[in-house]
Amino acid sequence: MDLGILGKKALVCASSKGLGFGCAVALANAGVDVTMCARNEGQLIEAGKKIRKVGVQATIVVCDITTQDGVERVLEKIPNPDILINNAGGPPPGSWETWTNDDFLSAIQSNMLTPIKLIQRVLPSMIENRWGRIVNITSGAVKAPIPALGLSNTARAGLTGFVAGVSRQVAKYGISINNALPGVHDTDRIKGFDETMAKSLNISIEEAREKKALSIPVGRYGDADEFGNICAFLCSQHASFIIGQNIVIDGGAINATI
Ligand code: NAP
Repeated sequence: MDLGILGKKALVCASSKGLGFGCAVALANAGVDVTMCARNEGQLIEAGKKIRKVGVQATIVVCDITTQDGVERVLEKIPNPDILINNAGGPPPGSWETWTNDDFLSAIQSNMLTPIKLIQRVLPSMIENRWGRIVNITSGAVKAPIPALGLSNTARAGLTGFVAGVSRQVAKYGISINNALPGVHDTDRIKGFDETMAKSLNISIEEAREKKALSIPVGRYGDADEFGNICAFLCSQHASFIIGQNIVIDGGAINATI
């Protein structure tokens, strides 16, 4: 399918690997030039090379996107993106008794205030251009909260609330803002969780993966490419009537009708 976004320019945050990289690849395959960022330089350089091989431009910015400096440095390279993919690392798991005020502030900064800030910064030019696409990578935990991920549940709920309002305010300018909610996708973040699960159940990592995969109706983990392709569709010309939605991409793991 022609996504109709050839020649557009995208900012894909936190994109040297995992879901962010999957989105960058899918957008590049649709002919979109991509600006990417991550903290680890080596991995980001390699990711940029892979994107350029597709035949589009890839600009890389080594930064922590959750800082003011990171936001400024990225926007210096791409002040007026047509497409914004908001992403950052997720907060660590834990338990309600031990989370401190600083833990909450850090999660809120990474997974709520940073994406909100970027949305605020890119919207004026999207409004002027009468076209824009924003996809926020959040989590299935927004719809079905995971107790150990309370920091994530809290911060992402705030972003989801903001998006619900602003997406409807700017829809008349040809701007579509939505959230993509991953379930379990085979990335390094999930590998870390699998290791923890294996240790706590005293089983091998392979057994932990198998156990988790069985809890997903599709019977397997998702991958970053299929996640990226859905994200690219949400950035396409065809997505102009999809506004303020929370699209769950989880192989059916959340058992809910709506
Ligand atoms: P991942 O495989 O660990 O990749 C994270 C990417 O983000 C890397 O490129 C990393 O590079 C970059 N990054 C992290 N923190 C950053 C920062 N502060 N500034 C700039 N770049 C940063 O993680 P993932 O699985 O793709 O997850 C992406 C997001 O989706 C996370 O918020 C995660 O909680 C959420 N999520 C994922 C799943 C899943 O199944 N994978 C499920 C639910 C929610 P550097 O480390 O070099 O910065």
